[in-house]
Amino acid sequence: MTDLLELRNVSVFYGARAALDSVTFSVPHGGQVAVVGPNGAGKSTLFKAMVGLAPLRSGEILIHGRPPGEYRDPIAYVPQREEVDWRFPVTVFDVVGMGRYRRGRWLKRLSAIDRAVVHRSLDLMGIADLAERPIGELSGGQQQRVFLARALAQEPHVLLLDEPFTGVDIATREATLELLGGLKARAVTALVSTHDLDLASGRFEQVVLLNRRLISAGRPAEVFTEQHLQAAFGGQMVVVNGRAIVVDQCCGGHGPVGGVDACHCDTCEPADAVGGPER
Ligand code: ADP
Ligand code: MG
Repeated sequence: MTDLLELRNVSVFYGARAALDSVTFSVPHGGQVAVVGPNGAGKSTLFKAMVGLAPLRSGEILIHGRPPGEYRDPIAYVPQREEVDWRFPVTVFDVVGMGRYRRGRWLKRLSAIDRAVVHRSLDLMGIADLAERPIGELSGGQQQRVFLARALAQEPHVLLLDEPFTGVDIATREATLELLGGLKARAVTALVSTHDLDLASGRFEQVVLLNRRLISAGRPAEVFTEQHLQAAFGGQMVVVNGRAIVVDQCCGGHGPVGGVDACHCDTCEPADAVGGPER
């Protein structure tokens, strides 16, 4: 089976600093992948690169072997909640309706079919009764459902969910997982970023572990080894399969004291030394 989505040596820079450094992995058609890594690992940047919101410095992204521009419409992207201006004065119906606009159709009204798809998407996400409410008035979980309904209305081939489980209630979290289950049955390829390693290992067949560079990609048991977790999360505690693991850095987390050559952990590598401290 051909891979639906391929990243080949993808690098994205903000100024002089690499947010993604030569990242290569691929996702099979209909695969659902958890994208995991610490804060600042480049998870959001990865999704933005896939929808053309962050330009590539080098490398390429291919969907069905073609550049994403040719397939922009079937990619649905649900950004991290903090990146949305929730004061924007639109109703829930309007936001979900946006999922029906294709290139070149901005000025057209929604057709009867479009409106039916919007209503079906609202129903599926359990928010039909909120259709006329302004999005700014909703709870975090309800807002998340609105964006999931918009993504559904796009009838995507690829779904990108950036931190959909952060800051939402348990019911919305379950509704999101249920939605992913339904899309899997329709062979929709999905990438879902999360901080929750337990969720990633328990609910996803494939995981991509990232910290600017690709640390590992594959089945959760292959990816979540202590060595990989140390490379990604050095100096932090992580929980996988209910087991807490404290992953030490070789320098104890204090950074490149005594010269970068003295230490080879992720904090101390020369690339960081050139770009300055992480935060
Ligand atoms: P994650 O989603 O994994 O937390 P991001 O992709 O948001 O990581 O960020 C990766 C790195 O790029 C971070 O160091 C972040 O500070 C930096 N970054 C993200 N967006 C911008 C931006 N618009 N301008 C400059 N730096 C950015
Ligand atoms: Mg992010």
